Amino acid sequence: MTGKNGMRVIAIDGPAGSGKSTVARALAERLGFDYLDTGALYRAVALKLVRAGLNEGAGDDVISSVLRGTSIEFKNAAVYLDGEDVSVEIRTPEAGHFSSIFSARRPVRDYLLDIQRNAALSGSIVAEGRDMATVVFPDAWRKFYITADERTRAHRRFAQLREKNTDITQAEALSDVSTRDTRDAARAIAPLAKADDAIEIDTTDLAIEETIQRIMAAL
Ligand code: C5P
Repeated sequence: MTGKNGMRVIAIDGPAGSGKSTVARALAERLGFDYLDTGALYRAVALKLVRAGLNEGAGDDVISSVLRGTSIEFKNAAVYLDGEDVSVEIRTPEAGHFSSIFSARRPVRDYLLDIQRNAALSGSIVAEGRDMATVVFPDAWRKFYITADERTRAHRRFAQLREKNTDITQAEALSDVSTRDTRDAARAIAPLAKADDAIEIDTTDLAIEETIQRIMAAL
């Protein structure tokens, strides 16, 4: 379905390290669509909450009051927290950990809902995350669920973090991916799940270009 104002949304969901960000970014570029990395939004929210001294024991009311007056924006593939570019800081394993903790909370998900939907008002987008096809854009033009086996995903995450000179072992990368996926899939609100009408692509044995070609062929 084409959205309001004729804008098109391609919704891509999947677990950590599935390759969905790389694929979504490349797809957006080829199609001339905007790219929306919703994981970056959750990471920026978590950074704000951690900076405010909150941890997983924080109550919903405290989280809500910190988020009131917080501004988060995603533009030109960078994420801004209260006007500060936090694109690098949100990529640490610690930020990933807290994003997964706080993303399970109602005030956080409610806060980001409009921000995500507004991103689709001014142009067609490729939106990537955990609940794009199920919750945020249930009427998306096209829906994909990108996955890969856990060892492959952990290896990709390891290689990605090492490239950024992050001090991480293979075992820590595996634990990062598997702990977050278990938590993201088990939470009560908007869990990681394949939408019934999404096309599933297992990228374990696929190169990035092959995954992009499969998606393009299904558009
Ligand atoms: O995609 P990325 O790994 O950067 O996402 C970080 C965390 O943000 C995920 O582990 C998940 O907890 C949360 N997230 C989410 N819903 C989305 C995107 C990300 O809950 N749509």
